[in-house]
Amino acid sequence: MESPDRTRGAGRYAPSPSGDLHLGNLRTALLAWLFARGSGRRFLVRIEDLDRARDGGTGERQLRDLERLGIDWDGEPVLQSERGADHAAAIERLDAAGLVYECTCSRRDILAAPSAPHAPPGAYPGTCRNRSEAERRAAREAIAPRRPALRLRTEVAELSYEDLLLGRVRGDIDDFVLRRGDGTVAYNLAVVVDDAAMGVDQIVRGDDLASSTPRQILLQRLLGLPSPPALQYAHVPLVLGPSGARLAKRDGAVTLAQLRDRGIGDAEVLGLLAASLGLAAPGERVTAEALLARFEPSRLPREPWVWRDPEPR
Ligand code: GLU
Repeated sequence: MESPDRTRGAGRYAPSPSGDLHLGNLRTALLAWLFARGSGRRFLVRIEDLDRARDGGTGERQLRDLERLGIDWDGEPVLQSERGADHAAAIERLDAAGLVYECTCSRRDILAAPSAPHAPPGAYPGTCRNRSEAERRAAREAIAPRRPALRLRTEVAELSYEDLLLGRVRGDIDDFVLRRGDGTVAYNLAVVVDDAAMGVDQIVRGDDLASSTPRQILLQRLLGLPSPPALQYAHVPLVLGPSGARLAKRDGAVTLAQLRDRGIGDAEVLGLLAASLGLAAPGERVTAEALLARFEPSRLPREPWVWRDPEPR
């Protein structure tokens, strides 16, 4: 990876290549671009392809779709799957500080275990946290050929941060997974290590991730990486489907290719997204570039945008 230009700071968009981008993803990408470019930052793209089996050219198609809307980026997109050495080094540093332990629990074990007193619902109950060396070895052997996951030994139960759109956000932190049993590095670890390596100092993403952020901030602190207030967060409202749930592929025509099939071209989609953000009049033709001059973060709508499948034309 090229060494990042840290003098200007950077925003980023970091899609998982799990399918073509839908309107919700595209709206978040447009916002991330507007926040970054509108504040004089560079804009970077990272394809979060740690689950490689899911890609199959999807990452490339996602990049083409961003281009179709006029969203450009600096340098080459970073592939998260090529960042393994840095991820492993970060886990090693945490381990050297005594902050990592092996966990042999299956999902079912975790659900069945009594939760620790005062622990938030769904928190890891700590089953494997205080094992002796002999207990650890026995637990390892008992699950072979499955391998243990690695968890962070956290002393912090909650943490809060200031979000540019949501204000103060508080979140619980449990002993979350750093590396899964199959060797895949966990999202929370990878995102923190990669954003820091890329020189990212502004993170704009869907507000479904706002509650993961306290864990990520804890990791930044433990690893000595830039953290708020040097790092800005803006979690943006999601796009919802007609049922009120987060927009999904089953909600009809939701990707650029599907909308083109319905006679709605890329420029019109950009206009729809811009109008949904209060940055264009309904039906107005705009370019991404022209939106920059109109963009004012404090005036963004704070509610989700509901998308209804358009009638075929
Ligand atoms: N890859 C994540 C997603 O597509 C986003 C990660 C992030 O922006 O931090 O939901």
